[in-house]
Amino acid sequence: MYKSEPDSKENLKATLEKQVYENKKYREEMWQRMLYWRNIITPCKKCGGSGVITYPSTALWRSGIGGQMISHGVCNECWGSGDENEHWSNIRKMENYINSLEVELKILADKIEKGDKKCLKNQNSQ
Ligand SMILES: [Zn+2]
Repeated sequence: MYKSEPDSKENLKATLEKQVYENKKYREEMWQRMLYWRNIITPCKKCGGSGVITYPSTALWRSGIGGQMISHGVCNECWGSGDENEHWSNIRKMENYINSLEVELKILADKIEKGDKKCLKNQNSQ
């Protein structure tokens, strides 16, 4: 029998409580180090500073219909920065903007195909 092994229920309980306390302390120290490494002063309230969150479905930041599994994806509050005050690019807004440009491009291409030359003029010169 090792000296560190508990020899009674009370010792076992005390040993386990001490180990749980030390593990929590170690985990908190590692978390604080991670925030420091990422230069995060004010952690995001949604992801705690990790920049990622667990989604309860496969919908991720796109919303919509999800499946029956837990998915890991970018935080849709800070967009991956992990900082409450310094958000990275909003991927949803970027995707919407790209989609709107694709619609405009299709409309313009249709006009050109139909021979509408007015659409090629620079709008600022009008
Ligand atoms: Zn976040």
